[in-house]
Amino acid sequence: MSAVIEGERIEAAPVVQGCLSKMAIAPGEPGGPVRYTLRAGEHRLDLNARLGQPLELSWTGAIACTHCGRATKKSFAQGYCYPCFKKLAQCDTCIVKPETCHFDAGTCREPEWAEKHCFQPHVIYLANSSGLKVGITRGTQVPTRWLDQGAIQALPILTVETRQQSGLVEVLFKEEVADRTNWRAMLKGEVEALDLMAERDRLLARLDGGLGQLRERFGTDTIRALDEVPVSFDYPVLEFPRKIVSHNFDKQARVSGTLLGLKGQYLILDTGVINLRKFTGYEIAVS
Ligand SMILES: [Zn+2]
Repeated sequence: MSAVIEGERIEAAPVVQGCLSKMAIAPGEPGGPVRYTLRAGEHRLDLNARLGQPLELSWTGAIACTHCGRATKKSFAQGYCYPCFKKLAQCDTCIVKPETCHFDAGTCREPEWAEKHCFQPHVIYLANSSGLKVGITRGTQVPTRWLDQGAIQALPILTVETRQQSGLVEVLFKEEVADRTNWRAMLKGEVEALDLMAERDRLLARLDGGLGQLRERFGTDTIRALDEVPVSFDYPVLEFPRKIVSHNFDKQARVSGTLLGLKGQYLILDTGVINLRKFTGYEIAVS
């Protein structure tokens, strides 16, 4: 078996093929851009090194579920087969709306998974991806979450004990700030720097009443203010697109162009942009 793979590798020189995972994005050296690694199956491709060069991605037509590995005709919730999509707690609506957590009602799809993922400290943060936004994430997902969103700045402001609490706090903040990224503005680089510490102080003062009510419900120490400083990120972009054209493997299996930049989970090519996260599980040949 290994001999066959060995032989194939010699014939097909620079092509790597495998099912996509979301790109690995890591903070760069101080003052340098963040680092992008494309992940296709077992293959790892340094995308920063490909900036300014031609890049081609071709979908083979296959999709493998990111959880169970089974072949699926269609991808659900960015990378799952239908049975996993219906069965897994991580695909339930309460992940998107944590304030609707139904663990206490005994109807959580996977209580053990929830213990590990939902009943863990979460952080409420302010970020600047296309302007000010609020977001939540598990403590361990910082700063990955911000990089996945293409945020140029971020500041953790509160810490809570569970995902449900973080959802309830976010609901409060949503009265005052967006919780979505305008991805077109994010990709065009039309984002002004913000004073996140001033925004934090303004919002905490404004939402003091609501936060007080949540502390009464869950205990004074469960929702704690953080005293952190903002972090900022520089993305490897040679040129921002003026007009946004989106590529989509479902419509066109072959996507190619010169790689002009990387921001959030997007590739910016001179021919258009593509959100690779949306195609998690798609088997892609990259050259
Ligand atoms: Zn599956």
